[in-house]
Amino acid sequence: MSFTLAIVGRPNVGKSTLFNRLVGKKLALVDDQPGVTRDLREGAARLADLRFTVIDTAGLEDATDDSLPGRMRRLTERAVEMADACLFMVDARAGILPDDEVFADILRKKSAHVILAANKAEGRAAEGGLLEAYSLGLGDPVRMSAEHGEGMTELLDFLRPIA
Ligand code: GDP
Ligand code: MG
Repeated sequence: MSFTLAIVGRPNVGKSTLFNRLVGKKLALVDDQPGVTRDLREGAARLADLRFTVIDTAGLEDATDDSLPGRMRRLTERAVEMADACLFMVDARAGILPDDEVFADILRKKSAHVILAANKAEGRAAEGGLLEAYSLGLGDPVRMSAEHGEGMTELLDFLRPIA
């Protein structure tokens, strides 16, 4: 049986980078500047022997103030409803920010399966953020570097029970 995984989290944490790695094509735009990708993007993902559908929640990059606009919340909720599981990505270099807590609240209420991923975890700059990620109360974070392909085996271990 196949499943659908939604990648959610605030802008710039590396969601599209992981999406592109899983799909293996440059379907989702990745950019240093927030404001590039829009809405939801779906792709056929492959990780080792697993085949699944992955949803990239773009369209979160339009936040212009410190709070998450309702549109971003609705977009995330829509992705969660479409998916069997969510990969909630945080930026281990930036640490846990108030917007991350907003996403964590949505996921606690709406999603059956949440995989917490601490991205940009290559190198020492990520140690503090990794520890902070435990405070979200969503279990142990998968330590990963979407850009460098690190943490994919650990991610696989979290995905197998869903498949
Ligand atoms: P999104 O807004 O969450 O979709 O984030 P993107 O995938 O567009 O990535 C935002 C920025 O983070 C880009 O400059 C990426 O190259 C960078 N990035 C993504 N993954 C990693 C990673 O594992 N390590 C580091 N250092 N940078 C990353
Ligand atoms: Mg993106």
